Amino acid sequence: MKDHTFQDCVKCTVCTAYCPMAAVTPFYIGPKQAGPDGERYRLKDKSFYDYALKYCLNCKRCEVACPSGVRIGDIIAKAKLDSPSFKPGLREWVLANTDLMGSLAVPFSRALNPILGLDVSKKMMDGILGIDHRRQFPAYAKETFEHWYRRKAAKAQKRFSKQVYYYHGCYANYNNPALAQDLLKILNACGYGVQLLKGEKCCGVALISNGLGAQARRQAKANLAALRKADGPVLTTSSTCTMTLRDEYAHVLGLDNANVRDNITLALKFLSEKVDSGEIRLAFRSDYQKHIAYHTSCHMERLGWWIYSLNLLRMIPGVRLDVLESVCCGISGTFGFKKENYELSQEIGRKLFDQIRDAQPEIVATGCETCKWQIEMSIGFEVQNPVSILAEALDIEETTRLNAARP
Ligand code: SF4
Ligand code: SF4
Repeated sequence: MKDHTFQDCVKCTVCTAYCPMAAVTPFYIGPKQAGPDGERYRLKDKSFYDYALKYCLNCKRCEVACPSGVRIGDIIAKAKLDSPSFKPGLREWVLANTDLMGSLAVPFSRALNPILGLDVSKKMMDGILGIDHRRQFPAYAKETFEHWYRRKAAKAQKRFSKQVYYYHGCYANYNNPALAQDLLKILNACGYGVQLLKGEKCCGVALISNGLGAQARRQAKANLAALRKADGPVLTTSSTCTMTLRDEYAHVLGLDNANVRDNITLALKFLSEKVDSGEIRLAFRSDYQKHIAYHTSCHMERLGWWIYSLNLLRMIPGVRLDVLESVCCGISGTFGFKKENYELSQEIGRKLFDQIRDAQPEIVATGCETCKWQIEMSIGFEVQNPVSILAEALDIEETTRLNAARP
């Protein structure tokens, strides 16, 4: 299935001005040439321009900028998947199979996390797999969120008359269950029980970007089956998972997700809209005081949903909020882990790092886990999902009381 939006290109080159990769290397030909222009050639020969496609970060900033609605990032992502020259190796397989790696790592996380941080381990991964030795892997949790949920939370969710579903994704499940627990805490205080999808898999974004199209399609089909069974809104905490489930499944993998797409939404959008409509009320701690800088991740920019995070963060009385100029952090999922991309990844992130250093916040807020890894590793500032900030700033007891009397 071809993406025919390439025909709408008016050759204005605005996309190139917004492309973070074109800005840092002359080896990338830019979105216009790699996307709509290249597509005309690829109609005749699938491998045309393929040497340049590997530079595309799939950040979609070109799509946000394009005045003609050309789905440039999608065109390039599909061309990469279809190209006979893009063959994933062991490294791509390891980086993209987040469910498998997470399930193997979590039971041994106490021993594994320090080992992953050792110089000798990093050098081995660099030499054997081509994962840059300067890159730090996120720590694995001691217990998956799913396991914790079954053990500690599932039963308590049944007492709520209103129910939502939560697509937690790999990061909250294997690396940061505290984020998922924070969401439960907020939703329960607002009067909502939280159910998990039966048979959820990784959204597959890393499979798509690493050229594992067939596996990405299999996982996407499993997720679509799970999403179709949900009889309430499906909430998310990761901007990238959200965009993948809603847009990449149809645009890049060619799967029909029309009957579930509008049911998938960011938890912060759900909450912000419910607060604005008066359906839920929030009460905040008077002693919560923080200087926060908000970073708009690339896929949050594409969704256009950063406004909901800002709306909620601005409700917290003790928050001083700086909104940073929206630029790419440079990591782009697994891209920045690869040895040949490390320097580019840091160069792209420099504009964001400088803004954070200038602002000197106590916390950087962002809806993307890989931006968190990049910022924390590169400049050492603490990064949190706004969901966790909200959970900490809320007076849970008072919020529960305010919402208990509401239908
Ligand atoms: S998706 Fe990002 S990196 Fe790729 S062409 Fe568009 S702006 Fe450039
Ligand atoms: S911004 Fe859109 S219309 Fe302009 S060159 Fe890029 S793809 Fe074509």
